[in-house]
Order: sequence, then structure tokens, then C-alpha cells
Amino acid sequence: MSVNQQAHTGPPYGQPQPGYQGYQQPAYGGQSLPGAPQAQYGAYNGPMPGYQQPVPPQGYFPSLGFPSKGSPVSLNSDTSSLAPNFIGSLRAPPTSGAPPPPASGASHPSGHVAYSQFEHGDVQNGIPASAAPMQRPPASQPFLPGSAPTPVSQMSTFQQYGPPQASVQQLRNHMAGMTIGCTAASAPPPAGLGYGAPRPPAMPGPPLPGQTVAGPPSSQPNHVSSPPPPSTMAGLHPGPPMSGLHGPPPPTHPPQPGYQMQQNGSFGQMRGPQPNYGGAYPGAPNYGSPPGPPPPPKRLDPDSIPSPQLNELPPQQKPRHRIDPDAIPSPIQVIEDDRNNRGSEPFVTGVRGQVPPLVTTNFLVKDQGNASPRYIRCTSYNIPCTSDMAKQSQVPLAAVIKPLATLPPEETLPYLVDHGESGPVRCNRCKAYMCPFMQFIEGGRRFQCCFCSCVTEVPPHYFQHLDHTGKRVDFYDRPELSLGSYEFLATVDYCKNNKFPSPPAFIFMIDVSYNAVKSGLVRLICEELKSLLDYLPREGNMEESAIRVGFVTYNKVLHFYNVKSSLAQPQMMVVSDVADMFVPLLDGFLVNVNESRTVITSLLDQIPEMFADTRETETVFAPVIQAGLEALKAAECAGKLFIFHTSLPIAEAPGKLKNRDDRKLINTDKEKTLFQPQTSFYNNLAKDCVAQGCCVDLFLFPNQYLDVATLGVVPYQTGGSIYKYAYFQLETDQYRFLNDLRRDVQKEVGFDAVMRVRTSTGIRATDFFGAFYMSNTTDVEMAGLDCDKTITVEFKHDDKLSEDSGALLQCALLYTSCAGQRRLRIHNLSLNCCTQLADLYRNCETDTLINYLAKYAYRGVLSSPVKTVRDALINQCAQILACYRKNCASPSSAGQLILPECMKLLPVYLNCVLKSDVLQPGPEVTTDDRAYIRQLVTSMDVAETNVFFYPRLLPLTKADVDSDSLPAAIRNSEERLSKGDIYLLENGLNIFVWVGVNVQQSLIQNLFGVSSFSQISNALSTLPVLENPFSKKVQSIVDMLQGQRSRYMKLIIVKQEDKLEMLFKHFLVEDKSLSGGASYVDFLCHMHKEIRQLLS
Ligand SMILES: [Zn+2]
Repeated sequence: MSVNQQAHTGPPYGQPQPGYQGYQQPAYGGQSLPGAPQAQYGAYNGPMPGYQQPVPPQGYFPSLGFPSKGSPVSLNSDTSSLAPNFIGSLRAPPTSGAPPPPASGASHPSGHVAYSQFEHGDVQNGIPASAAPMQRPPASQPFLPGSAPTPVSQMSTFQQYGPPQASVQQLRNHMAGMTIGCTAASAPPPAGLGYGAPRPPAMPGPPLPGQTVAGPPSSQPNHVSSPPPPSTMAGLHPGPPMSGLHGPPPPTHPPQPGYQMQQNGSFGQMRGPQPNYGGAYPGAPNYGSPPGPPPPPKRLDPDSIPSPQLNELPPQQKPRHRIDPDAIPSPIQVIEDDRNNRGSEPFVTGVRGQVPPLVTTNFLVKDQGNASPRYIRCTSYNIPCTSDMAKQSQVPLAAVIKPLATLPPEETLPYLVDHGESGPVRCNRCKAYMCPFMQFIEGGRRFQCCFCSCVTEVPPHYFQHLDHTGKRVDFYDRPELSLGSYEFLATVDYCKNNKFPSPPAFIFMIDVSYNAVKSGLVRLICEELKSLLDYLPREGNMEESAIRVGFVTYNKVLHFYNVKSSLAQPQMMVVSDVADMFVPLLDGFLVNVNESRTVITSLLDQIPEMFADTRETETVFAPVIQAGLEALKAAECAGKLFIFHTSLPIAEAPGKLKNRDDRKLINTDKEKTLFQPQTSFYNNLAKDCVAQGCCVDLFLFPNQYLDVATLGVVPYQTGGSIYKYAYFQLETDQYRFLNDLRRDVQKEVGFDAVMRVRTSTGIRATDFFGAFYMSNTTDVEMAGLDCDKTITVEFKHDDKLSEDSGALLQCALLYTSCAGQRRLRIHNLSLNCCTQLADLYRNCETDTLINYLAKYAYRGVLSSPVKTVRDALINQCAQILACYRKNCASPSSAGQLILPECMKLLPVYLNCVLKSDVLQPGPEVTTDDRAYIRQLVTSMDVAETNVFFYPRLLPLTKADVDSDSLPAAIRNSEERLSKGDIYLLENGLNIFVWVGVNVQQSLIQNLFGVSSFSQISNALSTLPVLENPFSKKVQSIVDMLQGQRSRYMKLIIVKQEDKLEMLFKHFLVEDKSLSGGASYVDFLCHMHKEIRQLLS
């Protein structure tokens, strides 16, 4: 606490420069600051457990086959368009010549020099950061024959990705060879593969033209007198903006003459069957129309797109696809490439418009003036200067913001700045908070706002002189001047009713109706709470939590408990008039856990006994929330309700519901009603809850439909969470439920929160997605906001932007901490602006784009037929890709599908969204499942949506039991599974362990402790803990994955050819789905068709 008690006149955290720079300095990095959740409860918190990236296979060079960000990728019919790829790849000069990263702060006598790129001048000049960190093997790297050909007979996921110096010709031959190969995996490599051969003479070598546009070499001659940049971002220099740095030639460049003649070469075969695209495209009915068996193709042409009939054949009998799945962009490859290229260096946020590493890459972040990507990720880090350009591209401009994100222990939590009674310094006009982008003028007496340009007097207590560069001399002493993220202690002006808040309260509200008691749930919850109450969130080094607790049980009536410390026994008070809810006691309802421990323990012992013989099956629901709300009102505090509920609330009471589930509505215009609440009662209740800061977390245990769409309204609009355990069984589900409950109770939460996003002139926040309530068009209100919740904000132009000044975002979150302290958390992010569409496409992030598109679509189903939503998604993405093709790619024949490098996974991921349970449900998906998923996704961060839509599939039998690494992931397709292996698939909600029928008996013995395949029980909810390396390895992988996710995933054992396999196959998202969703290959063809239509 000493940190935030420092007077504002002194540097709040000692010697600033080394502190900022050397993040490992014990004084800051290692110390648990107020609100640090990681350090408090080691046993429960397992986020980010040093996730080790697997070492790439020997001889495998990741970054060639589909080149890295910034250059286009061509598919299918013509590789001449690949030429610019390789040119583009050169824009990052060889890393070998780059200066080493700066050593830790101690070695810098003055932090000033090290951070000189932070100067406003530089920032304003637009450092073209985006491309530089994408390090690739130097273009001149010699081709290594020994490392090259992956035998085609191995079912290697990576086989299509040639060695790094494979020329375009080689790649083309490769693709052609694979495509026309007549049967599957065991075919010998086509003669023309040319892997080990020297570069064909026809190819002059892509590097040369590229080098001419690649800008100065990485030795950075123009930086001789200044220190190295904060990382080894080769070629990154704040000098001339744009022109010299961006590799791929601008769209106006004439195509490289050398490639022209090859255009019609060996790809004729692939283009042959094109009529199929336009005509009877077998998969087409799946996109827009209701699922159903697609019409069979008119004839079985081995070259045609695989029809459903073909897909049903065993893989070995399948005719060769016209498009080889290995020749289309692979998510696994992109993820691997990014890990290899960007996982080793910290991501330093000092440069405007930098695209961060992918969410699947494990990297450290150093805050040097922009918020960490853990807090904010954008769909694009380069915003079109005009709204016309933005409209033309159709690329949504959105930021996915997780204001209270948990950081790994190696990173520094935001510092808390206390400006005393005067509060934070803000712009007079737009009220933006002091941040690194504000410009001090007139010797430091005033500052000009970076958002609205208004000039504001610097308050006397905040005055500081400027140095010769115009920077305040206390620049490094103040987080708000030098960091992207920090907190201010709020003054009373920021508090409700001008009164500092009381510490929040937690109220546990337990359904004690027949089902809840009978299943053992009530006893389980009561037992758990006895110990869990010792782990309520605490602030910093506080001895005990400031949070008070209260208890309610209910069925048709509510029971309140007086657990005042002076009582010998708890007292129950029953409220049976649920129509007009009130709290029958004030004193003794909300108590301090330690003071009332004996009484609370006694109560938790008694509750299961009291209701052991209940016959009451009916429940109420709205009155339960009202009771919690009234209790918090009476106590004048914010708080959270933890409601454990089992059934549709049909008892006579406000908010009573009826069963209106109707699967016949699926694929009709009325389907949207399944997602809408059946009464507006809960919306009004949610509004009252938000006004009080009453957040609702709902744990559901349904045995049948209970209308999640309606029950979820209050949790959703108050920023709470919903957990669902269908057909809850103590034996199999308690571990998962208890893990979720523990994490939910302990996690960092801000109460009574209001978030506003300010932007620099030219753009503004226009739309918001997430779990919150809005009473006006700018403020996002949340009764509670926890560390896992994200808010997605969309931006639109209201004026022109300039390349020089870029675009700025400032997200300010006002909230009450778990100890009742009112705070402001500020995140700042600066983005580049562009006048060339190519720059936009080079600086996009597809994972974030998909996060936005999924949320947009999932909101759309509330008001539009699902088919309309799916069609709109397809159309928007086709427009995005067509705009690229038209404006950024080199001219080429219409038979080519050309995808921007940064978006080459857009089709595969989009297809996953389109066939997700919300947009295209299979027969086994319930209405409640869909409503549940819809609400979950709306608050997901980018990492969560990434794995949710494209699950991670790991071959467990390929795991190295002697290393910490994970086995290399494989693509989500049945073709990739071998009968002799065991696989793990996770999507953030479930973990499947799939066992092939031919798995060695010893492996089965080691993993399941049984002697044969037939003895494996698929009723297991955990793997047995066995004393052998394989079992331990698998256990450690499962634990690692569980630790990375915000919810405890359900473990499901699936035996090949067992009935549960259908469920598992649903997650093999590159395949055609049972509900009619297209395979990746089919969908890519469909997208191609859509794009061609737009272009013609
Ligand atoms: Zn302003």
C-alpha cells in the first residue's frame, strides 16, 4: 500500500528509469501490487503456466510455404502472384545485422536515451512499425537441400510447405504435383516436385526486386548517434514514414515480367473444372439455406469438388480432391510460424501501429507507451484515412478491450497514481486523461490534448519543466506520461452520491428445491463455501478480505439468514410474499467472514439437513435477484450475487416463466425468438441492478429446458457470468463445477464500473459488444467487470484522419476495487493511418476480426433470421477479400483466389463461425445451449474465440514425455487422425480425448489403466492418475490447458467408432459437418465464387 500513499509531488515509485526498463527489478516486477491476483492464491490461480512452445521439427522451415504477413498468398490456380510475396518478405532486413536488444535498465545510465523514440515528435511522425517485427529468415539464406523434402508418404501437416528457399517454381510444381496426384497419401512424390534441386533457372529469384524496396539495411545508419531500439525489430526506424519500408510493391507496380509467361503453365489442370464453381456447386445450399441434404452433383467427376457422398467414403477410397487440403492455408502453420518468428522477443509497445504477435504465441509485453495487447487488440493497426476507403474495404475497425486482464507474473501490473485531492489531470474540453500523447507547450505551463487539440492549463501542483526536446523532465517518473496503461486513484467526485464507496459484498443464493437437494448439489455447495470463504479477493497485502458475505436459500419462498457474530446459532427468516420482495433483516445479514465464522460454519452445516426431505420442486428466480439487490441497497454497497439454480422458474412470482422451447422454429423467421427473453421483466431488473452495482453470476444445473435466454438477461447486462452444468451428476461434474466456482469467487472484479473510450478527432466509438448495460451512447456500464470479460468497440469515421498524426484510443474504466477503493484504469493505444488500402490489409489481425464478426453475427440473431445473418457474414468477408484482390493484388486471371497474407485464414475461420451451434445447430444442440454459447462468446477475448471456433487438436501419442513441450498441433480434420493414435481436442469449454481403434495395448494400459480398447469407459470425467511417464505427460498437458482457460473444461473420452464420436466430429471443423456446414475446401471454393461475382 505504500505505493499508492506516496504524495503526488514525489516520484511514486523511486528511481524511475531502471524501474521501467528492467522489468525484472525486484522492486517492481516481483512485488505484488494492490490488486495483484496472481500472487495471492497460488493454489487456485493457474493462469499462464509457462506455456512452452514446441520446438519446430528438424529441418522444417516454417515461414516459406505461405509467406508471412504483409504479402498476398495465391491459391489454387496460379502461383505467379506469389512473386510479390517473396519480395514482400524482404522488407524486414536480415535479423542478424540488427542491434541487440537493450540490456536491462541497469546498464543504461539514463533511461532517456533508450526511450527517445517516445518523443511526441516521433510518435506524431508515424513510425511505420507494423511490418518490421515480422521477422523472417533472411531472403538470402541458402537453401538447405538436406532439410528439404518431407516424404509425401508421411501424413505430415506441413508437407506442403516447402523449405524456405523453394522458389515460386518449386512451390508451383509442388502444388501442381499434389493436386493432380491420383490417390492419397502413399503416392510417391511427383517427379516434378523439385525439392532438392537447385533453383530453376527461369526464376531470377524473388529477392532482388524486393531488396530495392526494402529500405535501408538493418544496421540502421541513421541511428548511429542514438541508442538501439527497444527490441531487435530489424529495420525499424523512425525516419521517413512508409515509403521505404513496406516491402510488397504498391498495387500500381507492373507485375514482374518474369512471371507472366508461367501464368498459364502447369496450373491448367487445376483451373479445369471451374465451371463447377459457378454452376452446380454441391455445397452451395449449405451457406444460406437451412441445413439439409445437398442435392447430389450431376456427375461424379474426380476433379469436382467433393460431394457429400464422396465425403462419406473411407478416406482411402476417396478420389483425389481437386483442391488438395494441404495446399490451402493452414491455421496450424500460421500459428507455428508466428510462434517461431515472434515468440522469442518481448513485444515492446513503444511504436505506433505495431501488430502484436498472435494470441496463440507466448510472448512477454513491455509497456513503453501503448497498452499491452492483453488489454486491447484491434482488427487493424492501420486505419484508412477516409471513411470512403474504410467502406470500400469493408474491414470493420474494432478494438477488443479487456480492461482488467490478468497479466503473467513476469509483467508489471498497472501502477496506481495518486494525485491527491485534485484528482487526475484531464483535458478541459473532452476530459481525456493525461497520457503519453499529450503535448506540453509553453515551457510546460499548458498541454495540448492529443484527442481534441484543446489547450489546457497545467495545474500548479502538476507543473514541471521541459527538457531541450520539449519533454517534461519527470517524464519517466510518471506512469501517465510514459506508459500505455496505469491507474489513478479517484477522488470523491468520481463516486456515486459524492461519497466514497463501502467495500462490496458477496451474497450466496442457493436453490434448495427437490432436484438441487437430491443431486447432492446443496451439500456440495455448502461444504465448499466453508473453505472458499477464506479466499475472497483481497487487496494487496491486506490480511483479510474487505468483502462481506450473506446467505439466502430458496425454492418457492426465500430464506434469509442472520449470521451475526454474536449469535450462538444462525437464524432463518422466511419471506413467502415473493411478489413484493424485501429484506427482513439488515443487521446480521452481511457479515465479515472471520468475525462470524462459527455461525457461518454452523449454517452451512445445517442447510443440507434442513432441506433434506423437501418435496418442493418449483422455484422462483426474479425475486431471488430482487432480494440480493435490496440487500445491497440497504447496505449501500455494490456486490455480487452467486446464484445456484436448477429449473425453469414456474412458481407464481414476478418473472415467472413458461416453457416456450420449440425446435421447430429453427430455420424459420421466428428462430430469433429463441434467443430473445420471453419477458421484458428481466431487462428492467437488470437496469436496477446496474444502478446499484449488483452483479449477478449464475450457476445453472438444468435437467431440462430452463430458458437461458431469459434467465441470462440479468447476469449478462450486469457484467456477470453464466455457468451451465446440464444433467449435473455429483460424481462426474463436481470437480469441474468446484473449479469454476473457486475461480469465479476469487477472480479480480471491479464493481460499479463505467467505461468510456475516447478517440482522436476523425473516428469515434459507435458500437459496443459485451456483457454490460448502456443508458446512453457512450458509457458502458457494468455492475461488475472481472478479469476475463472483454468489451468490443467498433469505430467509424466522422472525419478524415491523417497519416502523420495517426489515431489514438483511450479507454478509461472507473470502478470500485474489492476493498472499496474508487479507481480509474486507463489504457492508451496509438494506431497508424493509411491512404493505401494495401497498408490496411498488411496490418490486420484475423483473429480479432473473427472475434468481432462472431459477436456481430451473434447479436444479429436476436433480430434477424439466422440465414440472413450467415449470408451477411459471407458477403462482408467476400467484399473484404474482393477489395483486396481488386486494389492490392497484382493483376491476374479470375481463376485465382488471392488472399491477403494477414487474412489468409479468414475463410477457414469464418466457416467455423458460420457452422457454430448458434448459426447452424446440429440436432443434438439444445435451445439453451445456443443461448448459453451466444452469451459466452459475446464476452470472449480473442484467444478464447480463436480456440473456440478452431479447436486445438494435439496428438498425445506424439508427445515427448521427457520435455515440457506440447506435441505439435494438427489440423481439425478426420483425415489427419490415425487409428493408431490418441488425440486431445480442446475448445475452451471441452476437452475430448479421442482413442483410435488400433492404439497399442500398452498405451491404453498406460493412460487408462485397462488392458484393452473395449474396456475404456467413456463415462470417465478425469483421466486416472497412473505411475508412468505417458500418463503423467498427458496429465500435465491437460492441467496446462485447464490453467490457460477461464473455465474448467469438461473432459470427454471418445472411442473411435463409438456413438460419442459424432459429438467429437462436430469439432473437426475443417470437415463437412452433420448439420450441413461446409468443409473448409468447399467453403473456400464458395468464397472464391462470391469474390469473383463481386469482381465481375
Ligand atoms: Zn481533449
